[in-house]
Parts: sequence; C-alpha cells; structure tokens
Amino acid sequence: MADKKPARKEYKPGRQCPKCGCKLADHKNRVSCGRCSYTEFKGHEEKV
Ligand SMILES: [Zn+2]
Repeated sequence: MADKKPARKEYKPGRQCPKCGCKLADHKNRVSCGRCSYTEFKGHEEKV
C-alpha cells in the first residue's frame, strides 16, 4: 500500500456509474453521471 496520493478526501474519486458504467463527475457533495443523469449523494460528513 503505497501512499502516493494524499488522503485529503475520503470519498474515492473516479466512481463509475452503476447504470451505464460511465465515469461519474465529482461534485461538491455528490457525484453525477453526464450520460444518464444518475446522481449519487456522497452522504459524507462534509458539512457545508
Ligand atoms: Zn450513467
């Protein structure tokens, strides 16, 4: 386990859309798919 990337975000970037497998766009508190408009809220403890 090499610590190449800094652990500033617990949420893993580069999620894939469960519907179409497209890469999800990383937003502030959610991720969304630009292809099928699938949106998934991170639900993290990142309070605005
Ligand atoms: Zn999609």
